[in-house]
Amino acid sequence: MNKEDLKGKISKASFIVTQEHGTEAPFSGELLDTKEEGIFTCVCCGNELFSSATKYDSGTGWPSFWDVLNENSVGEEIDKSHGMIRTEVHCQKCGAHLGHLFPDGPMPTGKRYCMNSVAMQFKQSDK
Ligand SMILES: [Zn+2]
Repeated sequence: MNKEDLKGKISKASFIVTQEHGTEAPFSGELLDTKEEGIFTCVCCGNELFSSATKYDSGTGWPSFWDVLNENSVGEEIDKSHGMIRTEVHCQKCGAHLGHLFPDGPMPTGKRYCMNSVAMQFKQSDK
């Protein structure tokens, strides 16, 4: 999908984060407090990214996960912007920017996938 098509499909906030590497304001995201069981998908292409089973409250104000759903979920890249060295996380399928990965998460992985709520959609499991 090209960027012009995408513009009509997702919200402006989602477009800025996923296509222009923006970051939403902390504690603003709709998915921050989501506690239902389900799968978090890429807002741009629907690729399955994270499971609610690995979501936790990191206190940062962004939806946080300690692991990805599977090896096709996300890609990682070193990001040296803003005078910091961080690991950028993007959708493995379409390249949409999702957030960053930090090494201060809980066990068993010790990882913290700090995601933007507007970069994802939530698909609740069938009950
Ligand atoms: Zn995607």
